Amino acid sequence: MTHSNTLLKLRKNLESRTGKAIGDYNMIEDGDTILVCVSGGKDSYTLLAMLMALQQRAPVKFRLIAMNLDQKQPGFPADILPNYFASLGIEYRIIEADTYSIVKDKIPEGKTTCSLCSRLRRGIIYKTAKELGANKIALGHHRDDMVHTLFLNLLFGGKIKAMPPKLVTDDHAHIVIRPLAYCAESDIAKFARGMEFPIIPCNLCGSQENMQRQKIREMMEDWDRRFPGRTESVLTALQSVVPSHLADNKLFDFQNLTLDTPVEEGDIAFDSPEMPISGTFPISLSS
Ligand code: SF4
Repeated sequence: MTHSNTLLKLRKNLESRTGKAIGDYNMIEDGDTILVCVSGGKDSYTLLAMLMALQQRAPVKFRLIAMNLDQKQPGFPADILPNYFASLGIEYRIIEADTYSIVKDKIPEGKTTCSLCSRLRRGIIYKTAKELGANKIALGHHRDDMVHTLFLNLLFGGKIKAMPPKLVTDDHAHIVIRPLAYCAESDIAKFARGMEFPIIPCNLCGSQENMQRQKIREMMEDWDRRFPGRTESVLTALQSVVPSHLADNKLFDFQNLTLDTPVEEGDIAFDSPEMPISGTFPISLSS
């Protein structure tokens, strides 16, 4: 494995972004036991590498347990992850559960199977965390996943809702954390290539990414190509919400708005934002 300067720089950048997200959202505390979900894809390998590196120099002590769920998909190379975990010397569990057969049995041919598959997987992960005494569960979702989820909910779900960096599970038994929340997918992909992670293909089940998510991905890739920095900007927006300039009565009391109500951004929020336009803008901004 060659650790070129570029790869080291990339690792440093990803570690610093991961450390910042962990700090900003207080994701890890002293005494935590964290179940790290590793599927064999680039994101989860990177997640594990980041958490192991940060564990070495964190001011708090925490325990990491890597976990892989063998869903019994045809052709799943069951020896890759145990060998990889063993080579790292990390504590790990491989859980075998044939969710593949359940999904194939329940979902008609040609329909996307991901939502049932994810639900089943989630249940097994939570059960494993309980059995192992893990209070936190770390997932490998990154910045682009969060931004894409926002647009999915916005454009197809009628909701301003993304994928949070930290959340409590429905049964209030665990906290789910997403330490890669500030990491760009393209950096993770470069890092995974440089590290030569033994990637397990994610399409063994034969299912395709949901069509709407595919469209959002294409849309954001197109925007980022023509106006670089847009995905980062949307992430920043998720951290800077102005409830008085939305229209949700639950977030802001429009009913009782008076001249004395404190203003957040006032009239300046109506000004057109400055945009670094370097290409042909797809819609007219002028009124
Ligand atoms: S791609 Fe296959 S394994 Fe992945 S969530 Fe969808 S159905 Fe499950």
